[in-house]
Amino acid sequence: MNWLTQERCNRCYIKLKDASQTHCLNCKADLSVVGRWSEFQEWQETRKKGCVRYVLWRALVFAAPLTIGLHARSIWSGSIDWIGLGVTLLIGLLTGFVASFLMWRGIEKEFLTELDRREAASSQPDHTFVESNS
Ligand SMILES: [Zn+2]
Repeated sequence: MNWLTQERCNRCYIKLKDASQTHCLNCKADLSVVGRWSEFQEWQETRKKGCVRYVLWRALVFAAPLTIGLHARSIWSGSIDWIGLGVTLLIGLLTGFVASFLMWRGIEKEFLTELDRREAASSQPDHTFVESNS
C-alpha cells in the first residue's frame, strides 16, 4: 500500500490498517457510517476538473502570494515597481506551471497504474471471496 492507496478514516484522517478494519482506532467511528478516504479517491475527483484547471489554479496560488510578498514594501509605500512586479509574477507563474504540470503527470501516472492493477485484479477469477452456502 502506497501513499495513493493508503485508506484513512473519513472523520479524523488517521491511517487505517486494512480493509477488514470496521472501526477507526483513533476516533472509534464506525467506518461503514463515516466512510473511508484515500488520495486515490481524491484524485478521481481532482482529475475530472482537468489538467489545465489544476495547473492554472496551482500556478496562481503559488505566484500571487510570492509576488505580493516580495513586493509588499513597494505596494505598502505606494511606489510600486510595476516592471519588477510583472517579472516576479511571470517567473512565479512559469515556475508554478512547470511544477504543477510535473506533479499532475506524476500523480496521473501512478493513478493509472493503480487503476490498471485494480481492473486486472477484478477481471481475474478470485476464489478467496466466494461465499459458500454450507
Ligand atoms: Zn477516525
